[in-house]
Amino acid sequence: MTQPADVWPVESAKGVRLTLADGRQLIDGMSSWWSTIHGYGHPELIKTIQQQAEKMAHVMFGGLTHEPAIQLAQKLVDLTPEGLNHVFLADSGSVAVEVSIKMALQYQQAKGKAEKHKLVSLRHGYHGDTSGCMSVCDPVTGMHHIFANNLQQHFFADAPQITPEQPWDESDIDSLKQILLQHHQHIAALIVEPIVQGAGGMRFYHPQYLKRARDLCNEFDVLLIADEIATGFGRSGKMFACEHANISPDILCLGKALTGGTMTLAATLATTDVANTISNGEAGCFMHGPTFMGNPLACAAANTSLQLLIESDWQANILRLESAMLKHFAPARENPSVADVRVIGAIGVIEMKQPVDMKTIQPACIEKGIWVRPFGKLVYIMPAYIMSDQDIKTLCQTICEVLK
Ligand SMILES: *Cc1c(COP(=O)(O)O)cnc(C)c1O
Repeated sequence: MTQPADVWPVESAKGVRLTLADGRQLIDGMSSWWSTIHGYGHPELIKTIQQQAEKMAHVMFGGLTHEPAIQLAQKLVDLTPEGLNHVFLADSGSVAVEVSIKMALQYQQAKGKAEKHKLVSLRHGYHGDTSGCMSVCDPVTGMHHIFANNLQQHFFADAPQITPEQPWDESDIDSLKQILLQHHQHIAALIVEPIVQGAGGMRFYHPQYLKRARDLCNEFDVLLIADEIATGFGRSGKMFACEHANISPDILCLGKALTGGTMTLAATLATTDVANTISNGEAGCFMHGPTFMGNPLACAAANTSLQLLIESDWQANILRLESAMLKHFAPARENPSVADVRVIGAIGVIEMKQPVDMKTIQPACIEKGIWVRPFGKLVYIMPAYIMSDQDIKTLCQTICEVLK
């Protein structure tokens, strides 16, 4: 408010292009924070939303149900890793994470283990902005000190250091193992972003870490919550990043790309063990019920988005974008201000040695016809899966030029 940065009014958006109010067009590298995987204004998504709006934009989800939600739950159960057979629909990613935490707590309580009420998460993690979410975000980048008196105190394991390309080293899991060894009697769940740590640093880690984390959770009777709000629906090259390690979590959080970037919607899935244990507990059900739970417009959009994804050649598209980013980001490696260049699936990251100056970089990008939104030292893109070879090339080359 006191030192406002520039903002650019957007008039419309189609495919991978934003049209500004002054008529300029920008190639969008952000997919509006991982969400618009099919690009903007997909005709099928528009049609679905129009048709659903005419039938019923909303109806309460207590004592009533409807076809879009039933279909979506079935689709999510079919699509997600083995064992996640129960779906809770929420209205945003942060709420889906809050729900996952409450599920873990209610589960342990129902099992007569109320003393297991702490969580463990990873440094550099990001899980959303509401209080429960903040308490499991990285304590430094999440600025826990500002909210210290109101945040639950949880455990933080060191962030994984071994990247997917490096040989696995068992010492990478030591910090998590030590915490579980010492405190498992008090720990309800481990929450992680599988393979890709997003907003907490855009870091990629070895699938073996996730495998070992799954083993340790089993060993110490701790639930595993996979927060795939950013990575879900193909972004990392697999439909879900858990598939890189061939594991299933006990609870899974989804959001962002769920409706193809058209409506706000999120989901938390759980195993039958988690669902039934909670339901056999004191409350008799899971204790959460948002007003706009299962919103029919959003569910209908999600059904169409998932259908578009499944029927598309998304794996080939993501591989295509992955090699294009590797190729066209390569010149950045020669830039002395660049610390690292990394790519996984349809996620490309250039990490600078110093934080970028937003007041110069953002106008410079717009001047050259691209939209990226760096934070800190990170300049990153996660394009729509349909971005053309020419557009991904222009986008990457322009970023390299601007950074130079
Ligand atoms: C974006 C994000 C969230 C929060 O989702 P919102 O819809 O912004 O509340 C949680 N976890 C991860 C991994 C995310 O990327």
